[in-house]
Amino acid sequence: MKKRVALFGATGSIGKSTLDVIRQGKDVFELVLLSSHTNTEGLLTLAAEFPTAILALSGRTQGPEAIPYFGSQGLLTAIAACGGDIAVNGIAGAAGLQPSIAALNAGMDLALANKETMVMAGPLVLALAQEKKRRILPVDSEHAAIFNLLEAHGRDQLDAILLTASGGPFRNYSPEQLSAVSPQDALAHPTWSMGPKISIDSSTLANKGLEVIEAARLFALPPENITVVVHPQSIVHSMIRFTDGTIYAQLSYPDMRLPIQEALSYPARGSWSWNALHFDDLNLEFKKPDTATFPMLPLAYEALRSGPPYTVAYNAANEIAVTAFLEQRIPFLAIPRVVAHVLDRPWTGALQLESILALDSEARSAAAACIKAI
Ligand code: MG
Repeated sequence: MKKRVALFGATGSIGKSTLDVIRQGKDVFELVLLSSHTNTEGLLTLAAEFPTAILALSGRTQGPEAIPYFGSQGLLTAIAACGGDIAVNGIAGAAGLQPSIAALNAGMDLALANKETMVMAGPLVLALAQEKKRRILPVDSEHAAIFNLLEAHGRDQLDAILLTASGGPFRNYSPEQLSAVSPQDALAHPTWSMGPKISIDSSTLANKGLEVIEAARLFALPPENITVVVHPQSIVHSMIRFTDGTIYAQLSYPDMRLPIQEALSYPARGSWSWNALHFDDLNLEFKKPDTATFPMLPLAYEALRSGPPYTVAYNAANEIAVTAFLEQRIPFLAIPRVVAHVLDRPWTGALQLESILALDSEARSAAAACIKAI
């Protein structure tokens, strides 16, 4: 029997890579749900290619007859009704949280590319997965690497995980140079091709900050056992270190289809091969992140140490600040200032979904007020 796959965010960057994997594996995978936020045309084009999938447009209230589900509530209803075995969540930002919860509640395994699910509600979502006896399979390339390395080597005497970071397009910039960068500059990522929000996050190192939080939750490690290593070539996707000093790494060209295929095929290994790594003329560099110039990384550690409500606030404030930067309402260097300002307030609560969403919206308001004052 084919594995039934529900794909959230089908017209985005993760969605496109997932569809490539499904095309390769059409004998073993069947799409049962395709969702997009607002891309009606893109969704209809995919529906012609994958007629077995039901369709949902989460960011529209109406559309053509072929699409039966609209709005964020419509997407949740579609998830409950689709009968999938595994969901790939490629939605960008906080909007991905409730679809993750709905997928687990519907009895699906969760191939998770939406890091906000873990950043906003890690303890809640992990407890739900355990209760429903479903797996969470990380699709973020770094976390997929660590997941595989831990599967291969176990976690007895695990000392640390080393998350690699490309450093983004402004890796060697000084604060003076950073003060003048535009959204266009920040959207040009050197090694990964991604959506606008994650590209900006990559340029501020907020993406790595979110990934540190995600890793702490997924792998149940304290912040001091998670180290970030800048590696501009994005070939080593992450590493694990044991107490005896042995380090294991996972290497491949940067291509999201690989971690997606691993998650969809788990516990088996998919049989379709992508471009394997060549070692002729391969130069790999590693260095320490510049946390003084890129404060979004230390701010993420601070939020993680302060507890779950602070990681919700970190993410919410960052989303608001990134939108303001993309709309050219604030300069690049104001993004971490807004987030630091919001984290300075006391944040409590955030154990159940309702309180998490209330906290998220309160942190967004605090960030918006801070931006107005700039
Ligand atoms: Mg990543």
